[in-house]
Order: sequence, then structure tokens, then C-alpha cells
Amino acid sequence: MKACLRPLAIAVVLTAMTSATGVHAFSDDLKRDLDAIGAPIRPAPVDPAIAHALQQISPQQVQHTIETLVSFHTRNTLSSMTRDLPAGQGVSAAADWIESELKRYSADCSGCLEVRRDTFTESPQGRVPQPTTITNVYAILRGSDPSQAKRMYLVTGHYDSRNTDVLDTHGFAPGANDDSSGVAVSLECARVLSRLKPRATIIFAAVAGEEQGLNGSRHLAKLAKSEGWQLEGVLNNDIVGGNTTPGDTLQNKSLVRVFSESIPAPATPEQARLIQGLGYESDSSSRELARMILDLSTTYHGIGNARKSSSGSAYFRPVLEFRRDRFLRGGDHTSFNQEGFPAVRFTEWREDFNHQHQNVRTENGIEYGDLLKFVDFQYVAHVAALNAATLATLAYAPPAPENVRVVTKDLDNNTTLHWIGSDAPSGTKYEIVWRELTAPTWQFSTNKGINPSNQAPGEYAVTLPISKDNVIFGVRAVDAEGHRSPAVAPMPER
Ligand SMILES: [Zn+2]
Repeated sequence: MKACLRPLAIAVVLTAMTSATGVHAFSDDLKRDLDAIGAPIRPAPVDPAIAHALQQISPQQVQHTIETLVSFHTRNTLSSMTRDLPAGQGVSAAADWIESELKRYSADCSGCLEVRRDTFTESPQGRVPQPTTITNVYAILRGSDPSQAKRMYLVTGHYDSRNTDVLDTHGFAPGANDDSSGVAVSLECARVLSRLKPRATIIFAAVAGEEQGLNGSRHLAKLAKSEGWQLEGVLNNDIVGGNTTPGDTLQNKSLVRVFSESIPAPATPEQARLIQGLGYESDSSSRELARMILDLSTTYHGIGNARKSSSGSAYFRPVLEFRRDRFLRGGDHTSFNQEGFPAVRFTEWREDFNHQHQNVRTENGIEYGDLLKFVDFQYVAHVAALNAATLATLAYAPPAPENVRVVTKDLDNNTTLHWIGSDAPSGTKYEIVWRELTAPTWQFSTNKGINPSNQAPGEYAVTLPISKDNVIFGVRAVDAEGHRSPAVAPMPER
């Protein structure tokens, strides 16, 4: 009797997990050993402090940010070099305002944010016809744990805008969706997360030069690299306004796309060959970050502005897009990928190209231009909540395990994993996750059988009766409150 009931009980759990979380279903072959080895992945527990912060995210504050950015008339990057714009117009005025806004948030948390400018002169190239001053503005919330503060997580949007002519420094270029919406996400994250004291460091950025050729983000990413920032996750928000065009029935306000690269941008041919040999085309650190975002959306989908979407009863959720960016297009996260940092892009479900990179006008009854009235502030707040939940969890969670390896000395149908956890705060535990080769997201986890190895200080080991040929494994760190690091796929140890 028991033998009959048990698979049924598992099937019920699995069905529930699949429908509630969008987690990929898995085959009967893998179900068989669940009881003995592991269990289906479950959402992490809610952290009340993070939940409280998410509840502070405000569509009204989002609206205020986007309205103010649009009021600068143009934020074309090249307008920093013009001398004849009226006061209060142009990209430099916008940079000043963003800086003042971040300082205002900092004043509300007793100076908890370090507000900085990264200003440089871009030499003539492509869409930059003359030497041009470009300014990125960012604020740093230093981690509260000195042993963890070196780990950094960054959220960004681009505050520059354009109209039909990318060189037009004077014409109206509201850029309400592209990308005031992304800047509003970054600022809302700064405003609500600055009230928390996470262990690791969070940086809230607004960059310029995106429309000229990712110039601002490239400079910031290179600065991060040259200064040795330990950037372990970058969230780029670009066009997250939930475009609302009257009569467009195909927009879906319940969904936001999260793009992540496959093979890491700086991989050498040798590294790319290893990735092919291991079947790790879908296990870049950017993609593990994307999986974590989906995981967290299941934890916080009932809370604050992560709650039900504005367009109906469906819960707001991310859709993982296993592609670097939209078809043949690019964005600021790519600048960070190219310096070797994990980075993903959030973009609304369905863009309206009449409302991007267009002069504001009406032709044949069609309204062109990136106007305020097409932005859904509630939608932007949903995206902000998902970003904030991700940043806060990353910064509270223990560091991901290091030097994760799968032992391959002998052919073996078991799998032995080793990793190092030397930098982790006390109380850190580890979890093994795995998935079938055809599955997009982690399916199972276990914390059984993990022991300190006696080979090296800080090293852990586990052996599981699952063949590494049939699944992809990952190891992640978990603290006592249940904050999870991104998973790390093991490299072969010969
Ligand atoms: Zn953009």
C-alpha cells in the first residue's frame, strides 16, 4: 500500500510545484529516486525585512522619477557639449537631478549611500562626432559585514535618450520608457533597499551613452574591472515601462523578459570547447543569476508590488530568455559581460517600436514617440520589486561556493562533488541542485551527505548516486534564514 501511495504523493507535489512556479516538469526516470536522494526544488522562505522593503516600492514614486526625467526635454548624450540649451534641459541637468535624488535618499538613511560620479571624455567614434563628456551616476550601499562587503551587486538603467536622429542634441526626446523606466527601477531599489543592512554591497547606477553605443556602461564596467570590484551580479533594466498602446492586445503586463548570455563573452576558444564538452552552454554565471531571479519571483510573488499584475489575475513573473539580448540587439549588460561579470537584461514583454527612437509626431493617425502616457507605472513597480528582491537576497546570502569541482579521475555512475566555502559566514550550509539536460531550471535539491572533506581547509565533499552524464549539477550556499546564493556548476577535477 505504501509503495503505491508514495509515487502518487510525489506526483501531487510535483504538479503543484510546476503550476505554481513555472518550474520545468521532469521525467518518470528521475522521479524514481527522489525519496532517497533529494526533493523537488521549493521556493526559498520569505525574508520579512525584504518583504517590508518591497512593500515600500511605490508606483507614484516611479511616476515622479519618470516625469522628472522627461521634463529635461532631451537627454541625448551629446547635449552635454551644447551651450545653448535652455536651463533645465539636456543630459547634464538630468545627471544633476539623479545625483540630488540619490543624495536625498541617503539623507533619509543617515548618509548610508556614497553618491558618486564617473565622468569621462569619450573620444570621437561611431555616434560620437566630437570629444564628449559622459557622466554615470551611482550610489554605493556598503555591505554591513566587513568580511562580505567586497562582494558587489549592481542595478542599472540608462538615463540618456534619443529621437529619430541619434545626433540630435536639441529636439524633444522624452525617453519615458527607453529608459526612464529603467532608471526609475534603479532609483526605487536605492530608495527602499537603503533602509536595509545587507552583508554585501549594492550599487545603484544610472548610465549615459547607451544610445550612442553603450559608452557609459562600457566605461563603468572597465572601471569596475580596473578597480577590482568583486561584481557578482548586474541587473540591467532597459525598456521596462510595460508599453500601453491603445488597441494593442498582445502586450502582457504579467511578464517581464530576462535575457542572459549563453557562452560567456570573454571565453577563450579553449574555454568554449570545455563548455561544449560539458554541455554547459546554459550554465554561464549570467544564466545562473537569471535562474535565481525566477526562483525569487516564486518566493516574493505574493508581496507588495511583486503582487498580482496590473492587467489581470495572473501573477507577475519573469520569463527567462536564453539569449544574450533581443534578436541581434544589445544593451548595457553586455558591457559588463564583456568584462567577465554576470549580467542580465530586463525588458518588457512586447516593445512598441513606434514609441522608441522616434520624433514625437502623429502620422496617418499613428502616434510616434516615447511619451509618458504609454508607460504603466504599476508595471515598472513590479519590475522594481523583482530587482529589489534579487539584489537584497544576493547581498544577504552567503557567497556562492568557490572552486566547485566534479571528480572525474575514474569512470563512475556516482557523482562526487568538491567545493570550497572558506569565506562564508558561520552558519552557512550548502545544497546540491540538479536538472535534466533538457530542463531550463533547477529541478531537485538535497543537503544530505555533505561533509567537510579532509583534503583541504574549508573544503566540502558529497557523493550522490546520480550519473553526471544525465544531469547538470550545481552547488549553492544557504544561510540560516534561507537566503540562497546563485548555484555554481562544477568544473571537472581530473
Ligand atoms: Zn534603451
